[in-house]
Amino acid sequence: MQTILLATRNRKKCAELQSLLRSVNGHFHVCTIEDAPQDLPEVEEDGESFADNARKKAITLAKASGFMTLADDSGLCVDALDGAPGVRSARFAGDSCDDAANNALLLDKMRTVSSRKAHFQCVLALATPDGICDTVSGVCAGTLLTKASGQGGFGYDPLFVPDGYACSFAEMPAQEKHRISHRGKALQAALRTWLVDGTFKIV
Ligand code: IMP
Repeated sequence: MQTILLATRNRKKCAELQSLLRSVNGHFHVCTIEDAPQDLPEVEEDGESFADNARKKAITLAKASGFMTLADDSGLCVDALDGAPGVRSARFAGDSCDDAANNALLLDKMRTVSSRKAHFQCVLALATPDGICDTVSGVCAGTLLTKASGQGGFGYDPLFVPDGYACSFAEMPAQEKHRISHRGKALQAALRTWLVDGTFKIV
């Protein structure tokens, strides 16, 4: 049975990826950083794009663990803020901030703005222990609310209404978010690209 290491320390993101991968019929099992048999290095997310960061996380942890590794780098890009917070989504309000502080800062920056269009982007990188790496991506477009709504999900979910919906990501059932989200779409692309006869391969 193949082991796929998930290269994320974000518990909510890890739970989403595990839940998405559980529905796949394959000959692999998913291992988180916490379950890994060895201590794994922290990876600084200092890239200029989601793809740079996802590749760096996947390659570093695949080499350190010896397992084929799947990394996600994702974030929210707001049109009126020239794509911010973008790669700084997790640290928008400061290096050790939480989701509430990020959401409060975003609402503040959007106070005088007329266009509330935004999109989530997700890049998934798959790396082998010898450093071969490939990426796929997914996007979900939507609009930002003027105040938080809903308790589900994580991050900017309470502020984001995907196009075609009347509720935020935080108000919809998890399965519905998975079906239409940037991460769900990236994972669908990942399975089409890398899942060959039930195991992950970079071809
Ligand atoms: P990363 O660990 O650098 O990829 O951080 C991603 C950050 O982007 C998270 O901490 C969230 O703030 C935001 N983000 C990414 N995906 C989602 C999502 O599905 N919902 C809400 N926020 C998200």
